[in-house]
Amino acid sequence: MILLASEENIKRASEVIRNGGVVAFPTETVYGLGADALNKDAVIKIFEIKERPLFDPLIVHIDEIKWIEKLTIEFNEIAKKLVEAFWPGPLTIVFKKSDIVPYITTGGLNTVAIRMPDNEIALKLIRYSQTPIAAPSANKFGYISPTSARMVYEQLNDKVDIILDGGKTRYGIESTIVYIENEDVYILRLGAIEIEKIESVINKKVIISEKVKSPGQFKFHYAPYTRLIIFNSFDEVENKLKNYKKVVLISIKRENLKLPDNVIYDFFSENGDLREVAKNLFEKLYYYDKMNVDIIFVQAVKEEGIGRAIMDRLRKAQNRY
Ligand code: AMP
Ligand code: MG
Repeated sequence: MILLASEENIKRASEVIRNGGVVAFPTETVYGLGADALNKDAVIKIFEIKERPLFDPLIVHIDEIKWIEKLTIEFNEIAKKLVEAFWPGPLTIVFKKSDIVPYITTGGLNTVAIRMPDNEIALKLIRYSQTPIAAPSANKFGYISPTSARMVYEQLNDKVDIILDGGKTRYGIESTIVYIENEDVYILRLGAIEIEKIESVINKKVIISEKVKSPGQFKFHYAPYTRLIIFNSFDEVENKLKNYKKVVLISIKRENLKLPDNVIYDFFSENGDLREVAKNLFEKLYYYDKMNVDIIFVQAVKEEGIGRAIMDRLRKAQNRY
C-alpha cells in the first residue's frame, strides 16, 4: 500500500520495521527497501522480495554518527573527513564490521557499508525505528531502480506492507561507494557524489580499478528488458533507425531533430545539466521499457562528474544483451 509520508505514517512504518517487517521509503538517491539491519529474519525478507542473491551485501542506513561506533571497529581519519564533508548525503563508506551486524546484512563479509541519507523521511524512519535500516533499492534484482513510489509499487506491489511516498527522488541515481585502505580511497561504485569532490576533500586521487571488485557489481544491472544501445553522435545513429519497427531515441538535452515516423523522441534534460539527466534517467528508461518498443537508443554523456555514474548505469543496462 502506498502511504503519503506524513508524520503519522512514518511512525506507522517504523512500527513495521521494529516488528521485523519491510518498508519501502524514499531517500535522496532512489527508493529503498528497508528492514532492521540488526535483525536477521527481517533482512532475509529483503532478499526474498527482491530475489537478490545472498552474497550481494546491503547498505546500512543510519541517522546519527553514534551508530558508527556500534556497527564498526575502526573509524579512521580519512573516513572521518569524508563523513564530515558528505553526510548526510549519497556517499557510502565500507567499514570493518562489529559483531552486532549480522552476516546476512553484509553478504557474508567482515565489512559493512554505511551511509546517512539526506532525506528527512528516511532519517525520521530510522530515528523512530531506533535501529539502523538495511536497504537496497526497492526494485526486482537487476531491474531499473525506482525513483518514485509508483515505480516501487508497480515492481513489488503487495510484497511490501508499506510504501512511503515522498515524491520523486532528488538525485535519481545511487550513492557512490568507497573503501579505505592504507590511506587510499577506492571507488567500489560510481554514484551521486562526484569523485572530483572526494579528491578535493582527501587531497589526493582516488583509485578506480576494475581489480577492486565489490560483490554485487554485476556486468548488467539497472537494466530495462528492452534492448538499449548507447550512441555518441546523431550521424552514427541515424542510419540504424530504419532497421527497427518501433524505436525510442533519448538525447541528453532537447534537440531539434528530423526523425522518421517509427521513432519516438525524448530528452533527459532541457539544456544538458547532468544532475537533471541523472534525476530523470531511471524514470525515462522505466517508462519506455513498458511501451513495447524494439530498441532504446540513448545518447552518451561526457565522463566527468556525475556523468561517470550515468555512463556506468547506461553501460550496465546495455550489457543485458
Ligand atoms: P544497493 O544495491 O544499491 O543497495 O547497493 C549495494 C551494493 O553496495 C552492493 O551490491 C555492493 O556492491 C556494495 N556493498 C555493500 N556492502 C559492501 C561491503 N561490505 N563491501 C563492499 N561492497 C559493498
Ligand atoms: Mg540496487
